[in-house]
Amino acid sequence: MPWPSQKSRDTEVFDLIEKERVRQTTGLQLIASENFTSPDVMEATGSVLTNKYAEGYPHKRYYGGNAVVDEIEALAIERVKKLFGADHANVQPHSGASANMAVYLGLIKPGDTVLGLSLDHGGHLTHGSPVNASGILYDFQSFRVSDTDERLDFDQIRDLAKKVKPKLIVAGTTSYPRRLEPQPFRAIADEVGALMMFDIAHIAGLVAGGAHPNPVPYADVVTFTTHKTLRGPRGGCILTTSAHAAAIDKAVFPGSQGGPLEHAVAGKAVAFHEALQPSFKDYAQQIVKNAAALAEALSKQGFRLVSGGTDTHMMVVDLRPFDSELTGKEAQLVLDEAGITLNKNNIPNDPRSPFVTSGVRIGTPSVTTQGMKEAEMPLIAEYIATTLRGRNDPSVVKSVRARVAELCAKFPVYPTSA
Ligand SMILES: *Cc1c(COP(=O)(O)O)cnc(C)c1O
Repeated sequence: MPWPSQKSRDTEVFDLIEKERVRQTTGLQLIASENFTSPDVMEATGSVLTNKYAEGYPHKRYYGGNAVVDEIEALAIERVKKLFGADHANVQPHSGASANMAVYLGLIKPGDTVLGLSLDHGGHLTHGSPVNASGILYDFQSFRVSDTDERLDFDQIRDLAKKVKPKLIVAGTTSYPRRLEPQPFRAIADEVGALMMFDIAHIAGLVAGGAHPNPVPYADVVTFTTHKTLRGPRGGCILTTSAHAAAIDKAVFPGSQGGPLEHAVAGKAVAFHEALQPSFKDYAQQIVKNAAALAEALSKQGFRLVSGGTDTHMMVVDLRPFDSELTGKEAQLVLDEAGITLNKNNIPNDPRSPFVTSGVRIGTPSVTTQGMKEAEMPLIAEYIATTLRGRNDPSVVKSVRARVAELCAKFPVYPTSA
């Protein structure tokens, strides 16, 4: 075989991967956009499919040798259509951002007005941030959460829509802890003659598992990532009505991508199969139950939850009532030392910058995959509170680190010899 001998193998990278495996499995992974994907998904993603060029779509490829790849991509498409009840699916977007950019390219023109949720109120970078291509190429107008209950206010969205007359309304969020009903967005889109896109990147797994309303019957286009609550490989996906199918496919390839990552497409097909199993419904319900239990336990520890709680897989925690000096940045750093991984996050109308923040975002998809249930959530809240209270005392942080490792050892997620 042509490969380097065992002796000259790149041990540097593989040693680092092993180090990362230890980090992931001995600490609490609470980043709301992350998950542990299955060994089967990883096997498909690490397969010989990475060798293949397959520009085009099943049975319409530019290169030869794609008979098998065609079957794999067709399976992925068929499964995801079944999972969400969609007319048409494109499984090629390399990421959620690529999926969103392809939708804009396919449905609107540069300079067109689009309505989306402001980034600092829970929207996503690709919903019109000035530093993102979406905000550079299109005229994004933002709505915000209400000052009173920190939830979306559809009167405000309707008023803004009537004023700016968008071509497209983008629903969907990246750090909004509440259920988002698709119907009010549809009603406003119809009132102003706009198309409606629902970006379910975060909640795709909750939708697939029936723990969150499915926007597919209401939206013209639904985009999502496959690696968040849906628990698949890193990647994106677009679902559309038949009316927009051709425009969307053209916008993905050749519009904005070249050769698809068929190893990732195979991983998506495996993940869709897993999400179609009845046990995935239990998983989705458990994510939400765990988030509710964790939110309650954090309140008892003196934290304030943005909007008062959560109906999803995540919560945004306002640290100020717990400790007015404590920033999200500092909390993220010291919690990492204690083996608790989460991210700093702006709270609505945050006086601190996005690099500092007054809050953190916490999600339960990963710990739920590990098998943790409501009983473990107060422990996690206690570890977080203890670490933050004792953040200037290394012995406190060290003792939490040991307790976190002990808890994680009871919920193994991968075979340790892997
Ligand atoms: C995560 C996310 C994306 C982007 O996904 P990437 O794969 O990181 O590009 C897009 N939209 C929303 C709402 C997200 O939460």
